[in-house]
Amino acid sequence: MKLSKSFVPTLKEVPADAVIPSHILMLRTGMVRMVSAGIYSFLPLGYKVLRKITDIIREEMNAIGGQEFHLPGLNPKEIWEATGRVEGFGDILFHVKNREYVLAPTHEEIMAFHAKGTLKSYKDLPQIWYQIQTKFRNEPRPRSGVIRGRQFLMKDSYTFDATWEDLDKAYELHDQAYRKIFDRCGLKYFVVGASSGAMGGNKSEEFMVKSDAGEDTVAYCESCSYAANVEVATSKIETVNRDDNSKELYEIHTPDVKSIDELCEFLKINQRETAKSRVYIHNGEPLLVLMSGNDEVNETKLNTVIGGDVRPGHPEELQNITGADAGSIGPIGFKHRIIADNRLRNGNNLYSGANKNDYHIGGLDLKRDVPAIEYFDLRSVESGEGCPRCNGKLEVFKAIELGHIFKLGTKYSEALGVYYLDEKGESHPAIMGSYGIGCERVLACYIEQNYDDKGIIWDTTLAPFSIHLIALNMKSELIANKSNELYDELSKAGYEVLFDDRIDASAGFKFNDADLLGMPVQIIIGERNLKEGKVEIKNRRTGDKDTIALDELKLKLKELLQ
Ligand code: ATP
Ligand code: MG
Repeated sequence: MKLSKSFVPTLKEVPADAVIPSHILMLRTGMVRMVSAGIYSFLPLGYKVLRKITDIIREEMNAIGGQEFHLPGLNPKEIWEATGRVEGFGDILFHVKNREYVLAPTHEEIMAFHAKGTLKSYKDLPQIWYQIQTKFRNEPRPRSGVIRGRQFLMKDSYTFDATWEDLDKAYELHDQAYRKIFDRCGLKYFVVGASSGAMGGNKSEEFMVKSDAGEDTVAYCESCSYAANVEVATSKIETVNRDDNSKELYEIHTPDVKSIDELCEFLKINQRETAKSRVYIHNGEPLLVLMSGNDEVNETKLNTVIGGDVRPGHPEELQNITGADAGSIGPIGFKHRIIADNRLRNGNNLYSGANKNDYHIGGLDLKRDVPAIEYFDLRSVESGEGCPRCNGKLEVFKAIELGHIFKLGTKYSEALGVYYLDEKGESHPAIMGSYGIGCERVLACYIEQNYDDKGIIWDTTLAPFSIHLIALNMKSELIANKSNELYDELSKAGYEVLFDDRIDASAGFKFNDADLLGMPVQIIIGERNLKEGKVEIKNRRTGDKDTIALDELKLKLKELLQ
């Protein structure tokens, strides 16, 4: 492709609304442009990369027996009502005005619609159906460029099986295919097991990459690949101290001392000597949650262990329940259920609130003084804590989800009537799985992991072009002729070549653009070298430059671009 005739609108300045590297670089390289919040156009260079990603996905999906569909984005609302997901998706679902249509945010419903009455017998199963199609979601906070858009491209596949064992196989096939896809795309990723949440299945895994743009926080162990969302992650930590001798309970006047830090400062103690109280309302009843020091209650874990309806107590409720305000609450005299984080298990000689403003207690022995206490894992893990599986250390960071594999079960087949007959002629709902990959996210995450201060660094697999041919001065007949000749020759040899043949651009400008666009190899044609039958060749990733004879060029390219 000749740059003089192409639409690759590069930008020198960093666009004001972009903060993360991939967003900045996709705008600066002219790969995408925003049309409105969360709605992007892919310009030719960006679309070329997106196509390479979808080609890889398609190949790997076909390799596991996937059959490609193309389903409508505009869906009759009634199909979505049948599964309860008009309500389920809520404001995320786009409704088409004046018509009973919605814009599909995913396609379980439509795939089930096609399966109904056509997958009639166990002999029709298993099936793997997929598509690569635009999805619409009215994300409340579109951001990070194409990473969270209101319209985005997803590869979504759906499996239909007769037995749970067959679903396991379909799931496993997807797991393997996803690893191949992300490996081929050159991504560093990890896999997080997740609870199935609202979708109603029994196993799911998320493929994620580390990124400050991520909205999930995960704990990861480099040594054994343990990875879990902090909502469920656990760690190896020591419980608080239990001294041989328990002191008697005693009251301490602590005027104006409210936080754990203030208490530690006032009494010159360590935070692990304190038990902090949080009051919740659980199914209408007060519940006291004790945490060690400044550890915060992980409300997802709290929800999981106690179930039902739970919310933090309002400040004005606390006086009534405990007789004190937030900074002075404690377990002694608390008349309702008391639970504590595992870290506090059997601690003694602890300090806590006295249920009387401006007073705390010392000498608290949880075993002796709060015999009905129940212990659970209620805290969020932190970086540096021990991995629960091996002797490694956990790192906690933000991450983005690239893809998701999910054992759905029979929720959709039951709601939409996908039933098959088994060998005995008995009818059963087909067992489904669903599996997604965000195609733009793959692209953005690749850039997040492969850039420097000059621009993007492409590997050959996803690079829009493998060679960036730079003619330093197209006004020189020698350069113009030789570069054109080389462009034709390399193109014929099967290389994808981006040829900077612009007449008015300076050499410096061309170099900057080449580094910004980031093709793996640059070939630089200048007059001095050319007169000696040589060109310069540059490896974008390493920055290494070499001056080589023209007749060695092909060999060198082979070596650099394999
Ligand atoms: P997230 O938690 O990031 O909102 P999700 O759980 O809603 O993701 P799924 O419904 O599992 O995502 O969709 C499958 C894939 O589609 C995700 O793994 C992600 O890569 C991609 N995806 C989801 N929402 C968006 C979005 N708003 N913009 C771009 N890609 C998205
Ligand atoms: Mg979402």
